[in-house]
Amino acid sequence: MGDTLLQERYARVLDRLDAACAAAGRSRQGVKLIAVSKLHPAESLAVVAAAGQIDFGENYVQEALQKRQYLAANPDTARQCAGIRWHMIGHVQSRKAPLVAGAFSLVHTLDSRKLADAMERRLVEGGLRQPVLFEVNVGGESQKSGVMPADLPQLADYVLEHCPHLDVQGLMCLPPVFDAGDAARPHFALLRELRDALRTRLGLPLPELSMGMSGDFEGAVAEGATMVRIGTDIFGPRPAKM
Ligand SMILES: *Cc1c(COP(=O)(O)O)cnc(C)c1O
Repeated sequence: MGDTLLQERYARVLDRLDAACAAAGRSRQGVKLIAVSKLHPAESLAVVAAAGQIDFGENYVQEALQKRQYLAANPDTARQCAGIRWHMIGHVQSRKAPLVAGAFSLVHTLDSRKLADAMERRLVEGGLRQPVLFEVNVGGESQKSGVMPADLPQLADYVLEHCPHLDVQGLMCLPPVFDAGDAARPHFALLRELRDALRTRLGLPLPELSMGMSGDFEGAVAEGATMVRIGTDIFGPRPAKM
């Protein structure tokens, strides 16, 4: 996609996000836009960063780290991209935990004790901390990643007790319906209710709710999203994964 078109698409998403916040009676400051750049070239990411975008989400560990290296090594993009906050929004296998732990502003997809333990080990070794969200399987779909709602309290208790280098900031979800607009809203409401209950249980503020994508973010904002993850509406359709 040409740079101008990309800038226009980005501007349109910002306008829609402003409108969604206004419609929900919420402050725009309370909703962070995460530009989801997975499978798009680092050059496109640099164009959106130059337009002022700070938070970027990637799904695949290797791809994310390669893009970061590429942008840092290129004099044209290094300065602009130095301030980027990187978000890991894809499923992380526990064997990849050493690459992820301590390397992202926020990992949205903590969903098992195994992954928590593997990240904690790396954080202890490196003297690092890692902010995280629990990914919740709000649709209760057996084939999907994310902790089941019924298992969330136990996982959260475990992480608080055994993984002191993980900073739990809130919850994230990927509802079972895609691009379905308001059909996703009950799932977003459920995530907010789970967060409210967990807040009381853990005695932590848990400020973040990462929910809403290109096809449904207006409803997510109405239900309290503090982070929306938007890919297609900014970058266009994704090329196939190699
Ligand atoms: C790809 C992806 C997105 C962005 O989806 P779009 O429909 O392209 O906006 C958001 N969240 C996660 C977890 C994703 O994998």
